[in-house]
Amino acid sequence: MSKKYHHLDDPHYSLVPPEKEVGYALYKSIAFGFKNAAHGRGIFAGETDGYAYHGLGFGNPTVHEFERKMAEGEGSGDTAFDALATASGMSAIDLLTRFLCLAGDRKEMVSSPKIYGGTYYYLNELAPKMGVGARFVSDPYDLEQWRSLITSRTACLLLETPANPHADVFDIAAYAKLAREYDIPLVVDNTIATHALQRPLSLGADIVIVSASKGINGHSTGLGGIIVAKKELIAELRNTWGVGVRAVMDPDCAHRMLHGLNDLEVRMHRHSENALALAEYLQKSPKVREVHYPFLDTCKHHDIAQQQMSGGGPLLGVTLRGTLEDAERFIDALTKDGTVIQAPHICHEKTLAVHPASTTHARVPEEERISLGISDTFIRVSTGTEDAPEFREVVNVFAHALAKMSANGRHKK
Ligand code: PLP
Repeated sequence: MSKKYHHLDDPHYSLVPPEKEVGYALYKSIAFGFKNAAHGRGIFAGETDGYAYHGLGFGNPTVHEFERKMAEGEGSGDTAFDALATASGMSAIDLLTRFLCLAGDRKEMVSSPKIYGGTYYYLNELAPKMGVGARFVSDPYDLEQWRSLITSRTACLLLETPANPHADVFDIAAYAKLAREYDIPLVVDNTIATHALQRPLSLGADIVIVSASKGINGHSTGLGGIIVAKKELIAELRNTWGVGVRAVMDPDCAHRMLHGLNDLEVRMHRHSENALALAEYLQKSPKVREVHYPFLDTCKHHDIAQQQMSGGGPLLGVTLRGTLEDAERFIDALTKDGTVIQAPHICHEKTLAVHPASTTHARVPEEERISLGISDTFIRVSTGTEDAPEFREVVNVFAHALAKMSANGRHKK
């Protein structure tokens, strides 16, 4: 068999995908041959487009296709945007932090504390080890508090909306306006809504980060992240920390993400319908202290959520009455038969539940955690994409778990 090398652009290259391939082509190679020396020099100098090595130039064609689709989705088709796919959501946050906060004198982020527990831990404990400070706003709804924390050392504002774990929604346009006043970028974590339900860039945000491990993938089969911003920023990011660290997405993973993108919108709307139905059901139970879901009529974020989102997303929060022990018994009863799964994840096809205080947000300092409402009796739910009969079963399982509690929320012995 010939071991002769063909370049990707070569019409005789036997692996060029057939024109009518139904799925996406999966290129597994991490390295690609230059056309000639000038081509190699140009790619390394960041002056020529093309494939050379994973994390450099266009990277890998399958990953590049995923980046292109994400830029198109988050950027609403505006060709001014580009994207960089990373090894995980956390590596997207890490890469961006290094890029924005280690370049000059601006070594601080002003952040909402209502964020995923892993991001809180990263900003509170890991970033300071690199000399990067995170200043958390005590009331993230108070724009004046944000303003009072912005200094000449502020590199960016960070917002997560809807925020993990209560699905709190923030008015992106208002925070974008504040960031513009100080000429600093607004970074929005759009993991929970995805661009199927919300487009922060069209509301004025400058940079979007997404954990693609969640809704984008949709089936819990790939860990990945994405950063979407103006082309110039992504090119600089790619040419510095991107190529320098190469915490980039694997092609197999990008292939699964691409297929996830194909049915993203359908899935996100089904997640949203199921979440709203469950939130409305739980709201009626006297055993539940509070239900947090942005599309509930009674939710304080209802109006802004309706304005900037086309569905409430999969995430809802339930604060029970009773004690930690009661909450643990409730979640164990809820997840006993496998209809609902107890797992630290969101946006899966099946409904998931977790106790954030002891898992996803366990690394948030206790005092802060309690002031954020992540109490011992708070349960986070991520509704799946079950069809109507399957979802009736999910609601039944919640009904049974609640029936095991007495009126004051105490678990019946
Ligand atoms: N951002 C949000 C809102 C998340 O919920 C998560 C993980 O749960 C992350 C970022 C981190 O993503 P990953 O697990 O892909 O590193």
